[in-house]
This record gives sequence, C-alpha cells and structure tokens, in this order.
Amino acid sequence: MLRRVVYHVLNAENLLIFISCPKCVELKLPREGASFCTQDCFKASWSSHKAVHLKAKLSSIGSNTPWESGIASPSDGWLYCLRKGQSRTAQMPHFDWTGPLRPYPISKKRVVPAGIELPDWAVDGIPKIEPASDLQHVVEIKSAEKIARMRETNRIAREVLDAAARVVRPGVTTDEIDAVVHEATIAAGAYPSPLNYHFFPKSCCTSVNEVICHGIPDARKLEDGDIVNVDISLYYKGVHGDLNETFFVGNVDEASQQLVKCTYECLEKAIAIVKPGVRFREIGEIINRHATMSGLSVVKSYCGHGIGDLFHCAPNIPHYARNKAVGVMKAGQTFTIEPMINAGVWRDRMWPDGWTAVTADGKRSAQFEHTLLVTETGAEVLTARLPTSPKVFPWLN
Ligand SMILES: [Zn+2]
Ligand SMILES: [Zn+2]
Repeated sequence: MLRRVVYHVLNAENLLIFISCPKCVELKLPREGASFCTQDCFKASWSSHKAVHLKAKLSSIGSNTPWESGIASPSDGWLYCLRKGQSRTAQMPHFDWTGPLRPYPISKKRVVPAGIELPDWAVDGIPKIEPASDLQHVVEIKSAEKIARMRETNRIAREVLDAAARVVRPGVTTDEIDAVVHEATIAAGAYPSPLNYHFFPKSCCTSVNEVICHGIPDARKLEDGDIVNVDISLYYKGVHGDLNETFFVGNVDEASQQLVKCTYECLEKAIAIVKPGVRFREIGEIINRHATMSGLSVVKSYCGHGIGDLFHCAPNIPHYARNKAVGVMKAGQTFTIEPMINAGVWRDRMWPDGWTAVTADGKRSAQFEHTLLVTETGAEVLTARLPTSPKVFPWLN
C-alpha cells in the first residue's frame, strides 16, 4: 500500500504540473483531492490523505462479497482448507461438527511486497530457528534496545487490531477482515506472522462463536448475534507482537455478552498479579477462579507464550488451575497471557483443516490476549488500548 509509484504528468514546458496518488488511481477514486503539486507535497499530505483509501475500502466491504454460491470455486482459488493449509478441496470435508458453525472456502494466498523483512517460515511454511532455539527452555531477559523494538512492534499490532475492529459488522466476511489486517500490516512495513507459519494460510486468526482459537478467515459472512475473536501477530524490526480481542457482531445475546466480559476480566486480573518473583503457574489460578465463579470453563490445550525474536518460546503460560508451569517472573521478560474461556465444557476438538479448535460441546468460547513486559514493579502492557482504539466494549465506556 505504501509502494510509492507516483505518476508524473508533464506539460508542454516539461514542468511538473501534478502528481496523482497511485492508490486513488488503483481504487478509481475521484481526482479531486488526489492530486499533489510535488512529491514533497504528496509526502506531506500522506498521513491525512491515506484515510481516503481506507474509507473507500470500507464502503466497498460487504457489497461485493466474492463468495455467494454454495460450493467452492477452484477457478477463483476459493477452496476448503485441509492438512493445516498444505492442501485444498472443492468439497466441504465430512466431520462430526460440534456446533452450528461450518467452514467456508478460503481465498488465495495474499502477497507480501518485496522489502518487508520475512520470518524464516514465510517461504516454505517451516519455522527453523524457533524449534531449535535455547529460548524454548530459558526465558530471555531482554535488553533495553530490544524492549524498545518490542514496544514499537506491539504498538503496530494494536493499531492493526483496531483497524480490524472497525470493520466488524453483520455481512462482512472473515476473509475481508483478513484483507484489512494484511493491508494494514504491510502498510506499516511489517510481516503478518501467522501467514504460512506451519502452513497457516492467512494473515490473522478469526475465531467465530464455538471456535476457541486459530479459526481461518474464510468466505462466511458474519451474522447478527455472532461473536468473533481477531488475533493479530506481526513481525517488525526482528521481533513479534501479539494480541487479540473478541468483538460483538450486531446485537448479541446476554449470555454471550457475559462470556466475553468475563474473559476480558480474566485477562485483566491475571495482568494485575504480574511482577518479579511471581510464579508463572499463579496466572492460571487467578483466571480459573474468576471463570468458574461465573460458571464458565478454562481451555487447557492452548497456552500463553514467551515472545520476542521468536513468535512462540519459553515461558509456557497455562491459563487453568493446578498447572505445572515452571519458573518465576523477572524484569525484562516478555510473554503473552491469552485466556480462552468456554460457556460449556473446557474440552476442544480440531476441525479437518488442522487448525480450527472448537469447543467439544459446540457452545461459545471467547478470548483476549496481550503481550506484556515484566517491569521492576509490575507489568507494562505492550499491546494496551490507545486513545484512538474503537470503543467496542460497553464496560470500558
Ligand atoms: Zn495471538
Ligand atoms: Zn499468542
């Protein structure tokens, strides 16, 4: 989006008379407001002008959905995902679905422009440094310089999540959310970490209703009453950032509102105990206490994780009670807390795509995630909400 191919239009005297914004040309937007006298004029106007593109993109969302018919269309690349993203099929796979939700076809792989620094799985789908690293066993104490980069990267991740939150509404497909995430990520000069990570086919995870986590953005339109988690991770200046939130789609029933609010509170309460000397295993006790108090259950199969140069590393952060997590928190560590809370049973099942984790009883699940830095006195939330973050949670207003 920021590749600045600028068209110079010269008059008879060979003087530059105006420059058209290339993105406006691509989006077929009116010339008025898209012409600039010089390159410097264009650059100076960029931060305010680019809002025009986003507005145009948003107004087109939902109106030209590429997916209207009932079966996958191989010619357009719309196919169902199989084998973790290593193969596709035109027919919906058979499965003992646990709830009302079904997979939909997914679009073709999105392109990352040249010049963006790639993690080592971007090309062939296989992380190489991550599984072999000592940082799977020892928790890194980060230098001030690396912490500064973590702040920057996680702030971008927050802004990307906020961009996704602004387009959530009935009729929008999760693939369209993925498009917004992908474009916002590469516009910031970052790589969307999930893209091709162990063959994951998209740039973010979108987990609807009974999906616990790792839902794949697809052609399904969000429906009034759905809840959808959008999980953003991205790679910038050599480090990863990671956060997620669960959003309401239109009017959501009372029970789902309570589930999402309670999950938000679980994360807040867990963050509140973070400081040097606290055992990692304590986090699960706090989360479990709050969830069970509301009659909800805590997912055990997926955990929070250390993060930095590596997308996933030590420490492992279980969210459930009586867990066996080892170690104590120390200043300079960075890790995520990302509780997944279920309305029914805690057990999960895996869809045939190899990624989508759903509740075993088909009841709904919610999640919130932050990336944290342990400070001398507590925690710094590197993915904290910004004054500009959309006000989508009634309990924060
Ligand atoms: Zn995440
Ligand atoms: Zn995470």
